[in-house]
Amino acid sequence: HLDRVAEVDTDLHAFLHVDADGALAAARAVDSGLARGERPASALAGVPLALKDVFTTRDMPTTCGSRTLRDWTPPYDATVTRRLREAGVPILGKTNMDEFAMGSSTENSAFGPTRNPWDRERIPGGSGGGSSASVAAFEAPLAIGTDTGGSIRQPASVTGTVGVKPTYGGVSRHGLVAFSSSLDQGGPCARTVLDAALLHEVIAGHDPLDSTSIDAAVPPVVEAARRGGDGDLSGVRVGVVRELSGEGYQPGVLASFEAAVEQLRQLGAEIVEVSCPHFTYGLSAYYLIAPSECSSNLARFDAMRYGLRVADDGDHSAEEVMSASREAGFGAEVKRRIMLGTYALSSGYYDAYYGSAQKVRTLITRDFTSAFEQVDVLVSPTTPTTAFRLGERVDDPLAMYLADLCTIPANLAGNAAMSVPSGLSADDGLPVGLQIMAPALADERLYRVGAAYE
Ligand code: GLN
Repeated sequence: HLDRVAEVDTDLHAFLHVDADGALAAARAVDSGLARGERPASALAGVPLALKDVFTTRDMPTTCGSRTLRDWTPPYDATVTRRLREAGVPILGKTNMDEFAMGSSTENSAFGPTRNPWDRERIPGGSGGGSSASVAAFEAPLAIGTDTGGSIRQPASVTGTVGVKPTYGGVSRHGLVAFSSSLDQGGPCARTVLDAALLHEVIAGHDPLDSTSIDAAVPPVVEAARRGGDGDLSGVRVGVVRELSGEGYQPGVLASFEAAVEQLRQLGAEIVEVSCPHFTYGLSAYYLIAPSECSSNLARFDAMRYGLRVADDGDHSAEEVMSASREAGFGAEVKRRIMLGTYALSSGYYDAYYGSAQKVRTLITRDFTSAFEQVDVLVSPTTPTTAFRLGERVDDPLAMYLADLCTIPANLAGNAAMSVPSGLSADDGLPVGLQIMAPALADERLYRVGAAYE
């Protein structure tokens, strides 16, 4: 895999940092353990992985795709990082991402975009474009992403790979640099559903260092993926969300989705149309909640505790240093979100904006609850279009935000959701993804249906 990285990554730019020595040392440690007759630490011992550059690593930089953290090497490992190491998974390096995970194309990275291996003039999705592209390009068999509004599933969809957002609280956020704390969730990227399940079980589970971590058994996702491999979905009720298709979706995406639903029916699933009327407001609610939480979380990059420091020449006040450092350290999208969020949270506006968005969030959660009284899982396209061209949406943030239309409801409600490859679009020959959504704490349903379908 390191050879493959050396061969293709100058052009693809999926990695921000490659740690060949560290990865080889971890792989050799697994080898010598096996030679001594020890049991491997996990099913994935020795299988290399690419880690999104938003998880802290004590032996590698953690930049979050931002100038402000350019040279920062954290003093500690994230819980996800630690669990990977304990499982004997060699970490090849850190992957490119939109700055602080804000974006849908990886073009907001301060270090230049990642290219889509299917067509290098197109985006690999975002914010975790580096992770999904590395898996799609065979630079890594596995990767870790984070999904606040779709950043694991949308890149998976446009790169023809599998991506899972576990139930909120299923994977620890300790050491995951915060964007929107009530939404952020780490999860697996892989080429098959079973691979994703094996990785899911390595990283999931209760962590006392994350106050929203769920203190319950990890859903039996590997068992479910193996069961799904039988290709029998009889007795499974699949709901097609009426509000997540139609106008604004590419014809090739819709055709692929219809074929996927037909295939699920042929595998024995019962197909039911369901309505989730408040999903339509998900995007608007998300783009108030996420920037609000981001404006608060990113206050820590004040050039004093964290982040780039400029104008520190003795002639400027602390406030001037902070302001000049934030001006120089953050890119345009991050500034846009901080301003939006600060405005939405300011006194007198809280009820009108953040408060209203939280009410919409409750309505979306109720839509899910009533849908899951009728069906076991819900399905939709993962994103309305295939990979768009690099540069196409950079000057139009609203067009960029539309990429998350279908993925956001699961984040707002905290549910589990997956994107699984669903063939190539008849429009342009590019990958399309099928999104499967399950109730919170029922992640195993995604794996059963996903494995049966793929
Ligand atoms: N594209 C969405 C955003 O820009 C989602 C990002 C994410 O899931 N991290 O906020």
